[in-house]
Parts: sequence; structure tokens; C-alpha cells
Amino acid sequence: MWYQRPSPSLTGCGAGPVRGGAGGGETETLGGALSLGEGVWRRFGLSRTIFPVKAPGLSAHADEISHCARCPKLCRHTCPVADAEGRETVTPWALMSALYMRDKGLDALSGPDSALVYHCSDCRACQGACTFHNDVPGALHAYRALAFERGDAPEGAVKMADELRDRGTLGTGGPEVIRRAVPEARRRPNARELIWMDCMTSTHFPDIAGDLETILEALDLREVGFYMGEVACCGLPLYQAGDHRGLRAHIEAVLSRIGWLRRVYVTSPECAHFMREVYPAFGFEVGVRIRPFLDLVHAHLDALPRRPASSKRYAFHQPCAVARGLGRSKEMLEVISRAIGGAPREPFLHGPRTSCSGGGGGLAAILPEVAGRVTRRCLDALALEAGETLITACSAGRHRFEEEGVEREGGIATVDWISLVAACLSEDASS
Ligand code: SF4
Ligand code: SF4
Repeated sequence: MWYQRPSPSLTGCGAGPVRGGAGGGETETLGGALSLGEGVWRRFGLSRTIFPVKAPGLSAHADEISHCARCPKLCRHTCPVADAEGRETVTPWALMSALYMRDKGLDALSGPDSALVYHCSDCRACQGACTFHNDVPGALHAYRALAFERGDAPEGAVKMADELRDRGTLGTGGPEVIRRAVPEARRRPNARELIWMDCMTSTHFPDIAGDLETILEALDLREVGFYMGEVACCGLPLYQAGDHRGLRAHIEAVLSRIGWLRRVYVTSPECAHFMREVYPAFGFEVGVRIRPFLDLVHAHLDALPRRPASSKRYAFHQPCAVARGLGRSKEMLEVISRAIGGAPREPFLHGPRTSCSGGGGGLAAILPEVAGRVTRRCLDALALEAGETLITACSAGRHRFEEEGVEREGGIATVDWISLVAACLSEDASS
């Protein structure tokens, strides 16, 4: 289905009729049919997503499930959840093999055992390590939908889906918070390019709205507005819970508000990947170009001032969704390096091999204890040195680090890459 522009509202995002299209006239991916490594995408000069998402049903994953069942667990070392839990039952191989056995009529993943497919943080580390780039999290999501329909989903998943369906957002963020943070002059009812501030950011780090505004002003992006519609979540938590029925209705509601736009720049890399990949996988034709906010800033890289090296010391955690989902670790590093006048320290596992913060997959809401262990292991791997500030590029991960890091000696200082870019631009303007 296609979407057309609704009548302008205060926010420029009021619900409207659905039909028609508003693409930016760009071609950018080869769609969901190909799964190519980053180098291949680059060689052919294509804008790429490393791991396209398949159709939502289990049948789309039949070959992958079969490959995994015959595999000697070659991705075993990559799974943060299996590592944190210290058990083989939740390795990518074991979960995919259970799906295989179920397909062969054996009793696997029935009743309460269905909840095993929720032991995944969507980090895609297994997919990155796999020769076939098997979409393990995609297959697990497909089975979550069956478990959810049967009433076998864990309590945390059901609660998360209920909250989102009731309120259109999660947490305490959302349209009111964004409206308060965005200056009057930036409320552009007719803007066709909008910033989509995700729920985690508006809930836990609402000041980032001011940093976004600083960047737009400094880069002279006057025509870009902010999305302030009532449906303030992309729907990812419904997908994570397995509520596909609720998700379809939610995507309709989102696209009726933004489908007529030219571009939407999403602050969360996980939400950007989800909207770009999962919306079409569910059969929605998405005319609006969904981009991570990083793309907008990176396109203006030359406009960012060349700063002298910062006297502060920084370490950087590359989010899974930036490095593996969107395939933009290089771009992210280029922007951060420009903002702080040099490259931040990166841990041993970085770039496409980055470690998982525990912020993805709905893990923190569904299995908080497991998410806590994943985060603590990630913090151990980051091995922050005294006086170092941790740069993050995903509010879900940053929130996890702050929650778990508070117990550590000296606590943990974090900063989002958007705030660093804003600071760099404002310092330049005042010097
Ligand atoms: S995802 Fe790939 S490496 Fe991992 S178990 Fe399956 S086939 Fe093996
Ligand atoms: S996506 Fe990450 S958490 Fe999920 S099975 Fe693969 S490695 Fe484990």
C-alpha cells in the first residue's frame, strides 16, 4: 500500500488518508533478496544494509534453519546471551536446531519452552560470523509470533506489547517531551524531512533534542522539522514481543503519519534498521526514505569543523545496529573522530565485531536479569580506563551502561555522539 500526505497539523504529522507515494526518487538497496558483505556493497558503490530482513513467517527461514541444524556451531563464540547465561540451550545453533526438530514433528519449543526464543538480543553477531549470514534473530522472531499467538510468550513480552498498544509509545518520553524540547521555530507543519526521536532517547536522554536542534541550525538545515505525532514509537517492541498482529496495525498508524514525507531521519540505529527493513518485509511499501540520523550528519562531514585533539579521553562502543544492522561503522567513526579531533579508543571487539550492550531485542524488558549480565560482560570487554568517557550511539545501550555501570568503582561517564557533534559545532560558532 502507498501513503499520501495528510492535512497539515501542528506537528505536520497528523493521521491522514492512506494512498499515493512520496519517494525521494532515490534507489538505494537491492531489496531483501540479497545478503552481501560490506566490502561487496562498497565495491559496487551501493548504499547498503548488511543484513536485509526476510518476510515474517518461519517458512522464509527454512533453508537457514536446515543449515544451522547441520552446523558444528561455528558462531557459538559470538552469542552474548548464550555466553552470559553459560548454557548451550540458548546458543544460535541450539535454538535453530530446536526449530528444525519442531518442523520434523518432534516435541521442541512447546508450551513454556517457547520462551527460549526470547533469549536473543538481536545483536546479529551470529549472522556476521556465519558463512551463510543466516538470519537467526529473524527466524526466532518468526517463532516468537507463533508463541505470542498461542499465549506462550513470557510475561515481560506481553506487558511490553500491551503498553505500546495502549499508549503508542514506551517509557515517559514521546511527543510531549519532544514538543517541550523543540523551539517553536522548528515546528514545521509543512516540512517534508523530519527527525524521528526514538522512545529511549526521549525517555532517558531528552536533552538530546536540544543537541539535534543545535546541529540542524549549525548545518543550516532549515527545512528539517521534528516528528511530534502521537504514535511516537516505530513499533519495534511489538516485533520483539512477537505481536505481529499489533505490529501491522501500528505500522499502518505510523505510515499514515509519515508515509507522505520525503525523508525521516531516525536517532536510534536499531529503530532505523527496523523501519527500513521490517516494514517492507511485512508487505508495506514505504515511500518515505528512512535514514539513520547519522546519514544526515555524515553527508555534511566537510561542514564539521576540524577540531584540535580533545584533552579528554574517550572510548567508543559501536552499537550492533550501526555496525552490523546498518553497516555504518566507518561513517560513525569518521563523524565522531571529527567531533573530538581524533579517533576514540576502541576495544578489541569493535566495528562489525562489536560486542552487545544488552539493549536490543527487548531483552531488558523481557529478561532483565539476562540483559544485566550481557551488559556487565560488555562493560568488562570495554575495559574503561580511569577518566575515560564512553561514547555511545544508541540510547538503549547507553541506558544499559549507565544502569549497570553505577555499581562500578567511580561510576561510568557516557556521552552520545549527537551531543559531541553539537558541542563541536557550538564551540566552533563561539570561537
Ligand atoms: S548461524 Fe551459521 S554458524 Fe551459526 S549455527 Fe547457524 S549455520 Fe552455523
Ligand atoms: S542475534 Fe545475537 S543474541 Fe541473538 S542468537 Fe545471534 S548472537 Fe545470540
